[in-house]
Amino acid sequence: MTINPEAPVRVRIAPSPTGDPHVGTAYIGLINYIYARQRGGKFVLRIEDTDRARFVATSEQEIFNSLRWLGLSWDEGPDVGGPYGPYRQSERTEIYREHCDLLLANGTAYRCFCTAEELEAVRKQQMTAKLPPRYPGTCRHLKPEQVEGNLATGKPFVVRMIVPPHAGEATTSTTFRDELRGDITFEHNNVDDQVLMKSDGFPTYHLANVVDDHLMHITDVIRAEEWISSTPKHVLLYRAFGWQQPRFWHMPLLRNLDKSKISKRKNPVSLIYYRQAGFLPEAMINFLGLMGGGMPSPTAETAAGQPAAKASEADIFSLSDMLARFEVKNIRLGSPVFDLTKLKWLNGEYIRAASPESFFASLRSTILSDSYLSQIAALVQTRIETLGEFGNLTHFFFADDVLPTPEVFIPKKRTLEDTLAFAAEQLTVLEATDWTHETLEPALKQLGEEKQWSVKENFMLLRAIITGSTMSPPLLESMIVFGKARSLDRVRRFLDTQKKLATGKR
Ligand code: GLU
Repeated sequence: MTINPEAPVRVRIAPSPTGDPHVGTAYIGLINYIYARQRGGKFVLRIEDTDRARFVATSEQEIFNSLRWLGLSWDEGPDVGGPYGPYRQSERTEIYREHCDLLLANGTAYRCFCTAEELEAVRKQQMTAKLPPRYPGTCRHLKPEQVEGNLATGKPFVVRMIVPPHAGEATTSTTFRDELRGDITFEHNNVDDQVLMKSDGFPTYHLANVVDDHLMHITDVIRAEEWISSTPKHVLLYRAFGWQQPRFWHMPLLRNLDKSKISKRKNPVSLIYYRQAGFLPEAMINFLGLMGGGMPSPTAETAAGQPAAKASEADIFSLSDMLARFEVKNIRLGSPVFDLTKLKWLNGEYIRAASPESFFASLRSTILSDSYLSQIAALVQTRIETLGEFGNLTHFFFADDVLPTPEVFIPKKRTLEDTLAFAAEQLTVLEATDWTHETLEPALKQLGEEKQWSVKENFMLLRAIITGSTMSPPLLESMIVFGKARSLDRVRRFLDTQKKLATGKR
């Protein structure tokens, strides 16, 4: 049962607040936004925060800020409300529980009491036998009295959905239509009895996503290709509930230059980075619009795989151009390459085309903003004798690249190799640490102790990487003002450059 084609269009993006807002969210957000606006439909923002282990408190606000920065406004969402709220999944747990009970009652789901150890033992056996890891269905066959007994003793359980065949049925595969690809069929022996409700009472992504898309009257699920393999589970859930399913569109994934899925190791993926590093929102939107195609562009091959040898005028368009000329039939399924060189070229085009006033306004709203400058001023006030020296100590806050020479970054008695290995460890620690003095200092010191790097060596190396020099305002405070996204990018770029230098190809 698919959605009534006449139903008014409603689309959504459903980011999980697990870290910095991702360029992929903006890319998928843009396509949803255009699709809704072109059809007089509604664009919904839903926060999928049921994964409490990966939850990051500041992330939701950063998602809002980044999408607004790009000009992608939503009609319904946690901060603006709407008729089908709440729009934050953590506030909907009761709804999921009720829906899970419906499935338990109609026999399309069951309680599973298997312990983590039991599941692990099965997984090991399957691996030894070179079988794909699958839940063996043990608890599918529990008798009602066994279930009652387990419940009475308070044994923890999850709820799993029954992937057909149900007893006595013949269904062995699920087919759904992807609007960009046509029919896609999944054999059920590749689909596990998916957990719907975890033992902590929180739903999994699959249950919450389907229940919400239904209750929020979503007509079109436009999301990234990586969710294709989840879709058969969702289709089975729509059937289990007896609901109409939405249309599914899976956009091609953004890729690194080497075609791997876009990752922070190869490209900055945080929208915060792009904003703070001075990319203009118009350029960013234009670039993301090039990614999956959609515009009638003569340089279609650019986004379809090859990094642009030459970018052309036709690659330059605004959000309103996209609203006027974007067509889903132009979407290409080749892997769009997130090519920073091209993004920079585009950004340069926008900078050159801006009036002097608006260029200056862009600087004033980012790297020359009062809040940024005043924080930097506070760091150097006690360290300079004339105002003219301000730049001597602070250039690294304004430069994009600072590359310390080996004399500056290799501590005495350390080798280049040791130093780079330690810098890579620093990066891992920094990635995992909250960006405050109280958390950064002990985290770095602990790493130093583990690897037997003195505090002096440890901080000297990081200072060299971040500031390019052995002298700077206080390091951690500087990194906090400079921001996590840009600091991490600097360390990654340093390591990357050193790697290239070592292998002789710059
Ligand atoms: N929460 C998922 C995400 O983080 C949503 C995927 C979907 O759109 O269904 O991308």
